[in-house]
Amino acid sequence: MNINEFIHYAKDKLKNANIETPVQEAGVMLCQVLNCTKAYLYAFGDRELSLDEKSKLEDMLAQRVKNIPLQYILGDTEFMSLRFMVTPAVLIPRQDTEILVEKVIELTKKQVLKGQNENSNVRVKVLDMCTGSGCIAVSIAHFCPQCDIVACDISQEAIKVAEANSELNGVRNRVEFFCGDLFEALKGNYRFDFIVSNPPYIETETICGLQKEVRSYEPELALDGGADGLDFYKKITATAPEYLNKLGWLVFEIGYNQAEKVSALMKESFINVQVLKDYGGNDRVVMGQLAV
Ligand code: GLN
Repeated sequence: MNINEFIHYAKDKLKNANIETPVQEAGVMLCQVLNCTKAYLYAFGDRELSLDEKSKLEDMLAQRVKNIPLQYILGDTEFMSLRFMVTPAVLIPRQDTEILVEKVIELTKKQVLKGQNENSNVRVKVLDMCTGSGCIAVSIAHFCPQCDIVACDISQEAIKVAEANSELNGVRNRVEFFCGDLFEALKGNYRFDFIVSNPPYIETETICGLQKEVRSYEPELALDGGADGLDFYKKITATAPEYLNKLGWLVFEIGYNQAEKVSALMKESFINVQVLKDYGGNDRVVMGQLAV
């Protein structure tokens, strides 16, 4: 079997399992197993697969037809143009989350510039609550060298993955990790300029209606936001003021239909509360500054 033949063969198998983009996924599998680019697949479609390559590909297909997310099968994914390792212990980073990261990077840069104008050497302190894979914490650390990050998660397994991702992206020395239940995880006296969080926010009853990839394989702990989906927003909003500097920002990712409710929660202690849309046009971020 050669590359082209595998693509045809995989396409049928994946299609039967209702995978939406079978040819593309077959290509991604080939790229990983052959350690090559997509262009190589087009140029050398008649290149024969070795027995070893074929068996690795078969193994991937067997997993994928069970609706195991492709990213778990490959073991990594891309976020903010960086590489992140993923295991079933963590939620797969979503492109929707990039808007939150970009906004925070923009604000931290402003803070750094302001400090430079005042001749002070600013370090920006950021807390990533419910870090999961660490995609938010590590991206901010990567794109803003003046940031020092603390990343927390209740799952020890997630912390291990996040830590590995900080190593992988060369920012281990600027990210501190703690395992525990929300702010209880923090050991010591911390104050932050930014608290960012993409917490679990799906309503418990809605989870069973999600795509099989998500409901059967992604960690429920990272999805379940309680009966109304708002458990974590309530808890984090209530405690965040104790950990924020004057005019510090609290920045949440939210579900597409949660902007109003989360904004209302935040308006009790925060000013300049605003909603940002993601690139798909859905409400995706609610943020505000601690009132002084
Ligand atoms: N912060 C991680 C992410 O954005 C994990 C989010 C979660 O587990 N709910 O992917």
